[in-house]
Amino acid sequence: RPDIPALLHDVFGFPAFRGVQEQVVGRIMEGRPTLAIMPTGAGKSLCYQLPAVALDGCCVVVSPLIALMHDQLRAAQAVGIRAASLTSVDADWRETQDRLRGGDLDLLYVAPERASGEGFRSLLRSARVALFAIDEAHCVSEWGHDFRPDYRLLRPLLDEFPDVPRLALTATADAHTREDILVQLGIPRDGMVIAGFDRPNIRYAVHARDGLPRQLADLVAASPGPGIVYAQTRAATEKLAEGLERTGRPVRIYHAGLEPQQRAANQAAFIASEDMVMVATIAFGMGIDKPDVRFVAHAGLPKSIEGYYQESGRAGRDGEPAAAHLFWGAEDFARARQRIGELEPTRQQGERARIAALGALVETGTCRRAILLRHFGESPPATCGNCDNCLAPPDSIDATETARKYLSAVYRTGQSFGTGHIEAVLTGAVTDRIRERGHDRISVHGIVTGEETALLRPVSRALLVRDALETTEHGGLMLGPNARPILRGEEEVRIVLPPKREPRRRSARNG
Ligand code: ADP
Ligand code: ZN
Repeated sequence: RPDIPALLHDVFGFPAFRGVQEQVVGRIMEGRPTLAIMPTGAGKSLCYQLPAVALDGCCVVVSPLIALMHDQLRAAQAVGIRAASLTSVDADWRETQDRLRGGDLDLLYVAPERASGEGFRSLLRSARVALFAIDEAHCVSEWGHDFRPDYRLLRPLLDEFPDVPRLALTATADAHTREDILVQLGIPRDGMVIAGFDRPNIRYAVHARDGLPRQLADLVAASPGPGIVYAQTRAATEKLAEGLERTGRPVRIYHAGLEPQQRAANQAAFIASEDMVMVATIAFGMGIDKPDVRFVAHAGLPKSIEGYYQESGRAGRDGEPAAAHLFWGAEDFARARQRIGELEPTRQQGERARIAALGALVETGTCRRAILLRHFGESPPATCGNCDNCLAPPDSIDATETARKYLSAVYRTGQSFGTGHIEAVLTGAVTDRIRERGHDRISVHGIVTGEETALLRPVSRALLVRDALETTEHGGLMLGPNARPILRGEEEVRIVLPPKREPRRRSARNG
């Protein structure tokens, strides 16, 4: 039997496993199929690289991005692992194939479209395969934020080698996506290993956008150390960078429209710097190992909670205090919803859920960290003490009565109608639909009047956030697991009042 701790130390130079690595590696060594859900930076690569070295035969790694693949390839080769890749930009195909057949490779990286092809399958038949590692496994799910149809074609390959264990890895998977990965890749439920997602040294804060250039300049002035500002478009990165240069901090930009040499130079400068601000699109950051990033700011709404977690997670990898700031405006949501309308119907539902989850994060008056962690299936404490809402709880009012009326209306109308209908019933509207269904004759019809009407929207959002309401497959509302204590009067519902506009600060220099 291979001496795993010795390999960990001698090959990789690590004194010990981190977190769930030991469990994952142990499962693979026993040949058990596994889905490892580990946040960025938790050390996923080791989970297949170590078995690749320890096991007899080659570990085939499926990875979606050539750039990422080559980064990992170089890192593996640097510690002496016999590794190669078969991609469109590799010139040494013949040699790699010969090495694979000759048992001279520990690790072979391939793209999903290559891996699912018949040519590759027959190549593997002539070699000895020890492990299939499917990196960024959320790409297999239409629910995931990064669906790659080629991932769907991997299953026949995996099934052709039933004795070879399969390891799916991802940093980002909500419950739906997890389920999909298990089903699509043929991994039993008890093969799922989930690492803790909390990044306690990151302080989360969310701000309504209100003069973003000034807000960012203030933030940069107050935040020493290297930082990343994520903007949504190339043009926005350039504009924001221009504004930030006036603060005197070194500023670089990064987006896919720059010349490759320029991009590489900017990235290298950032990695070497101790106070630079990188203004970038989300093209920046994947595979970059800079542990001392002190802050990450988003100039607009991210694409998903997963995306936000991953991007903000580039702050403070060294474990020292770091901050994640998110600036958002209502127009971000409007734009996102508009984009959803243009998608194929099958993808709309997933996108809607993603936007709703982001809405819950930015609108809550409760702990941001708790919302993030719950999204990843954890059960965190109600407060963390290290986010904006925990540090300075916002003003809120008791809306428990309205919440109870709302929940009763959802219940009495049969748990299938959306917010529009529920609001209409509660405020006593008499539409055709209401009359047809007899909803004008139930006790909750018209029980909300006057100023209370304005609370209905925030109350429904608050109820969704705390799982007292859930959305049905068809976009209607139904009672969630936490409705009961509220209906019984055992739990109160407080909602955050819309933030008062901060008074615009006059520049002190002008007196
Ligand atoms: P992920 O792919 O999960 O984002 P990586 O595999 O890139 O993470 O690893 C993140 C960092 O953690 C790397 O710098 C890696 O060298 C380091 N690392 C991984 N495992 C260990 C370990 N057991 N002990 C110390 N450092 C580790
Ligand atoms: Zn908190």
